[in-house]
Amino acid sequence: MSSRREFLGKAAGLAGVAFVGCSLAGAARAQGRRTVTLRGRRMKVIDVHAHAAVPEAMELGGQKIGVGTNRPDLVLPATLAQRLADMDAQGIDMEALSINAYWYHTEREVAKKICQIQNEKLAEICAKNPDRFVAYASVALQHPDLAVEQLVDGVRKYNLRGAAIGGSVEGLELSNPKFHAFWARVEELGVPVFIHPQGTGAPKEIKQRLQGNGRLDNVIGYPLETTIALSHLIFDATLDRFPRLKIIAAHGGGFLPSYAGRSDRGCITVPAACPGGPHGGLKKAPTEYLKQLFYDTMVFTPEGLRHLAAEVGTSQLMVGTDYPFPWVKTAVDHVLSTQGLSDAEKAAILEGNAAKLLGISTQA
Ligand SMILES: [Zn+2]
Repeated sequence: MSSRREFLGKAAGLAGVAFVGCSLAGAARAQGRRTVTLRGRRMKVIDVHAHAAVPEAMELGGQKIGVGTNRPDLVLPATLAQRLADMDAQGIDMEALSINAYWYHTEREVAKKICQIQNEKLAEICAKNPDRFVAYASVALQHPDLAVEQLVDGVRKYNLRGAAIGGSVEGLELSNPKFHAFWARVEELGVPVFIHPQGTGAPKEIKQRLQGNGRLDNVIGYPLETTIALSHLIFDATLDRFPRLKIIAAHGGGFLPSYAGRSDRGCITVPAACPGGPHGGLKKAPTEYLKQLFYDTMVFTPEGLRHLAAEVGTSQLMVGTDYPFPWVKTAVDHVLSTQGLSDAEKAAILEGNAAKLLGISTQA
């Protein structure tokens, strides 16, 4: 982790980046708000991957703040001042808040209540801070008809901008026909769905292999869960069935874009495993679908981001920080310092792509 001094030093060296004084009160914000200007225009930097939690809902699902990865600073509005100060320091103007699914094991009424409480709370935070937050709805995907109701309510009643879901649901892939009604409604509403892996997916299924040093359940398990989830949506033809879905994949889409070429070769190498044509009956080559999905930029290195952009296109990328988990504090510099991106592409990644997807105005 780089120190604040290193961060400031690095940031100051980049063209078009400025720290400006902040007139808002509060010691936590006195150090100033970082602003990013590209092509003479102040960017509204949007982070599509930021977490929150609602303790009273979590308790219904057997979770507790302060235990495991349930950090106290996930709770808003209790830690709002600190979050805004951190966003200001990092040059993040807006966060799209999501709550990681932990309620997929719960029965219908409990799941209904958990999501209801969370959606109300997130809506409240967004309404009070409309220039800093939007949010994705929580939905009880294990009860698809309920999830559809919650999605519609979330968007229409609470002004939430889409839904956040896990990479699998109690052992079921997101491509399972059980979820077709959900995807159909998502497509009809035209809202994005943010897919974030959870520990109850692949990390649980291969738990034995992910033990020991290195926090492998997270560093390998999470991107693996996303890789499997996206692969099923592609290979089980969910994306053919619902071609207008706007799916945002956390952590740069896991491992999938970094080894995309193999996805195209499987059916060609072993045609018997893929009845129905060169790609097992899919309408196009598997890697072509990667270009219609969206991804956050959480791949840590400029070379990683350059490669992701080369595989999927800069129109599909948006800033992700994973706040408040301290994986990275230089998400903005990560985009600004990536070789080969034009200013227009950087602006799209920092602001335009997410603004369009989440319905955020970029007018000053
Ligand atoms: Zn995350």
